[in-house]
Amino acid sequence: MEYADLFNQKPKYDCLLFDLDDTLYPLSSGLATAILQNLKDYMVEKLGIEPTKTDDLCNLLYKNYGTTLAGLRAIGYDFDYDEFHSFVHGRLPYENLKPDPILRNMLLSLPYRKLIFTNADKVHALKALRILGLEDCFEGIICFETLNPIHKNSVSDDEDDIYFIGSTSTTKPTTSNSANNSQIFDIINHFAQLNPSGILPKTPIVCKPSENAIQLALNIANINPQRTLFFEDSVRNIQAGKRLGLHTVLAVPDLWESDIKSEAVYTGNLAVETTVTA
Ligand SMILES: [Mg+2]
Repeated sequence: MEYADLFNQKPKYDCLLFDLDDTLYPLSSGLATAILQNLKDYMVEKLGIEPTKTDDLCNLLYKNYGTTLAGLRAIGYDFDYDEFHSFVHGRLPYENLKPDPILRNMLLSLPYRKLIFTNADKVHALKALRILGLEDCFEGIICFETLNPIHKNSVSDDEDDIYFIGSTSTTKPTTSNSANNSQIFDIINHFAQLNPSGILPKTPIVCKPSENAIQLALNIANINPQRTLFFEDSVRNIQAGKRLGLHTVLAVPDLWESDIKSEAVYTGNLAVETTVTA
């Protein structure tokens, strides 16, 4: 499906829902690589995990729980979420992100509701959008704090125009960077077995690609999935979105970099409605 088809006919959609990382800016920015390294450093420096285990742990937690944070909580680690996000995002090469006036103009020209739906935290989302020059292109942001409102008041209290959809709960969980290793579920050993048995521990964190998380986001933002286009770089998030009725676009922002984008014409196959089936 082409953009011309998407937007030049009688509106089939009234809402555009965008992932942020690697969707509104390209993977080539290097942020994703830096995030992964910071996650591993956090595991070693803050949680006392052996450096030799971080590769496997990151892979397994991401695969089974959606995010490393969600996985770490599931297997028994407890920590302050703000501190985690600050550590992981605080040292990112944001200078690699550039303002994107073409994307900005395109977004502003589209007469639909537009929202961000990211697993990342509010600080990172705001900072990335601000650098990209897209901070005023969205009605709201559904982020980590929106779906996990136990930590603190996550309603925006700054001067930004973006409305953060979040809870006003002020209940703070028990936080500790130290964990009793005997209470940690050894997920590496679990999957090293020939026939892993038993049920994996559940995570208290709500995040994509959990259908529960996506449904919660739809409810909070009052989004009708049948009339919404969901832009994502993650195939598994696309799959989950489809199962809940969202129309989906697999975004590959690296494709609309440089030459293609310089033509400022979004009528090519810059994104495709996926054919992934539930
Ligand atoms: Mg993404």
